[in-house]
Amino acid sequence: MKAVKKIGILTSGGDAPGMNNAVWAAYRCALSNGIELVGIRHGYKGLIDDEIIELDTRQVDSMLNEGGTVIKTARCLEMLEDEGRDKAVETLKKHEINGLIVIGGDGSFRGASEISRRGIPVICLPGTIDNDLAYTDFTIGFDTVCNTVVDAIMKIRDTMRSHNRIGIVQVMGRHCGDIALFTGLAAGADYVLVPEMQDKYGETFDFSNLMNHLNMMWAANKHYGIIVVAEGIYWRTPDRAKMLREMIESNSNYEVRETILGYMQRGGAPTVYDRRLAIESAVRAVELLSKGTGNRAVGIRRNEIFDMDILEALATPLVFKEELYNLVNSLSTSR
Ligand code: ADP
Repeated sequence: MKAVKKIGILTSGGDAPGMNNAVWAAYRCALSNGIELVGIRHGYKGLIDDEIIELDTRQVDSMLNEGGTVIKTARCLEMLEDEGRDKAVETLKKHEINGLIVIGGDGSFRGASEISRRGIPVICLPGTIDNDLAYTDFTIGFDTVCNTVVDAIMKIRDTMRSHNRIGIVQVMGRHCGDIALFTGLAAGADYVLVPEMQDKYGETFDFSNLMNHLNMMWAANKHYGIIVVAEGIYWRTPDRAKMLREMIESNSNYEVRETILGYMQRGGAPTVYDRRLAIESAVRAVELLSKGTGNRAVGIRRNEIFDMDILEALATPLVFKEELYNLVNSLSTSR
């Protein structure tokens, strides 16, 4: 394979803290290997619309502490058609970019695979806050979001405890409940609702189990509680927290308050863990491309950075972390 002289980097899909650190590390690593690294603004949209930007040291250094993605992201429907994918490849060829790094989630990986098929080596980095890419233990952004959510839950917990109330906190996570599970564990939540549990046990979760749980807490003199709900549980309303509050209130005398955390979860400076994951993954990406290797997804497993075929990475099924789910609930009921 031909050695790479010029690499393009783009961020795609939902923004995630740590994306900027990946750009920073890719730039630094490329520079020290005598490779040019250019940015592509607005993800695949910018690739199709020819939005290539030069990067310099001062610019990338200033990104280090920023949340979101400085080179910006976008969703791009044109990439779903062959015409758009061909246009994306034309832009790369026009600028003599012969290696591409894509930071995003599973949709972005599919786009990367299409570009790879057209002969340009592409490396994917898992940049998505939901932790919903099963081939890797963690995705870039997940740890930062969890820290932000734990902070919010602990504050909500203070006021719930003061008033003897139950606080429902709705967090992000469409198909994967990891944000709810990990933050529920870390913040000592009393109950966690995740989409995987519904996948496994049927559309309606066991509401009587939740009520038993709350009743046991009250009987044990713990007169407040926190329930963490992932947004992906499938009641036909975007307002899962409100619906759950109404269900609990109409079946008990408990006072319940709900909070939907929303976009505040996504922003903010990345944690050390996310920075390290982003930096080491980006370095691996540049190393692979410098050898002319493409069509790989970089991830972390058992604390080791590794890479594998993009389509195989995408085919890895999400596994419900049932032990973790049971642990969260068992810790809250144990006396
Ligand atoms: P994420 O990457 O976080 O999963 P999306 O699912 O929105 O976010 O995907 C991001 C972008 O990836 C889409 O806007 C589209 O441009 C591109 N994409 C998604 N699916 C495909 C596909 N099957 N083929 C080519 N490009 C795709």
